[in-house]
Amino acid sequence: MSDHIEQQEAMPPITTWDSENGAIVQVRIPLPFSLRWVNAYLLQGEEGWTIVDPGLRTPQAEVAWEAVLGHFGIEAANAYHIVLTHYHPDHLGMAGLLQQQLDVPVLLSETGWRHAQMLWGEEQSMTERMVSFMRLHGVPAAEQEQLREHMDSFIPLVSPLPDVTYFTDGQVLTFGGRTWRAIETAGHAPGHMSLFDEQHGTLLAGDHVLPQISPNVSLLPNSDPAPLHSFLQGLHQLLALDIRLALPGHRHPFTHVRARIEELVRHHEERLDELEQLLATPRTGYELCAQLFGTVGKLSVHQFRFAMGEAIAHVAELERRGRAVRIEEVGAEHETPSLSWRAAVQV
Ligand SMILES: [Zn+2]
Repeated sequence: MSDHIEQQEAMPPITTWDSENGAIVQVRIPLPFSLRWVNAYLLQGEEGWTIVDPGLRTPQAEVAWEAVLGHFGIEAANAYHIVLTHYHPDHLGMAGLLQQQLDVPVLLSETGWRHAQMLWGEEQSMTERMVSFMRLHGVPAAEQEQLREHMDSFIPLVSPLPDVTYFTDGQVLTFGGRTWRAIETAGHAPGHMSLFDEQHGTLLAGDHVLPQISPNVSLLPNSDPAPLHSFLQGLHQLLALDIRLALPGHRHPFTHVRARIEELVRHHEERLDELEQLLATPRTGYELCAQLFGTVGKLSVHQFRFAMGEAIAHVAELERRGRAVRIEEVGAEHETPSLSWRAAVQV
């Protein structure tokens, strides 16, 4: 393979949006998952360059960034900051390395940083918590072990973690010749921030609203106890805005924002109804997951973790609305306690 072709392959696809209002560059940073890529956004203003959500740290992403920084001439002297909509590894992973190269602040919400610390910080505790959480929800031992390995496999993909500067709900940030208001839209990720440029109707949506894909909403141990409620609240907040262009974390920017939000709300309400029917018989989170999505074997461990989180987030929402009742069994000594649900109203 010639150098020329390798160079071309290193450069990820780039698309420019909304040029009349100050261009926003979409860069498709490769991902080794079925999502295929994450969108990083580049905005240039008088203050310098801003990078939003630089992606997962993989060798392919490093090569891609080298090409992108070279192409736009971005370096420490003209870089302003890196903004993270949320802490998920496919958005945050490259931030530490780019921070070292460009010597810039990395902005993330405090809640997001607390979760990054729980997952990959020095005293990380999420792997163990996740394994006992899965046990509580009926996941068999072999699958618990696969999960443990899977969780730890992300550490190199987010290292080094960045030094973070917090930003908060309602804070106004100025970059790329635009004024952005941060709006906390949790549910997909605790502390997730969407950024809205009201003057031009442009939303940096992170993963809160995606076209084609329904953003994963998972219940996690030691985190938001009502993630689906938070997610739907976030969607309702966005419905009140006049959004003319949404720049999402995955797939492509889109304009049919209101219709997409309404579709997502409907999707979750339908899933809640479906789940309530399944609870005519008491079921654990694992059994619900198997009914809705399948288990490991049919799904990859990665997909299985999301599917379990999604099933439990929905049943927790049914419980919060008084439509499901939890059944806790403590079990005899040395036995694992277990948790299941049944419908509040038996039809
Ligand atoms: Zn995400």
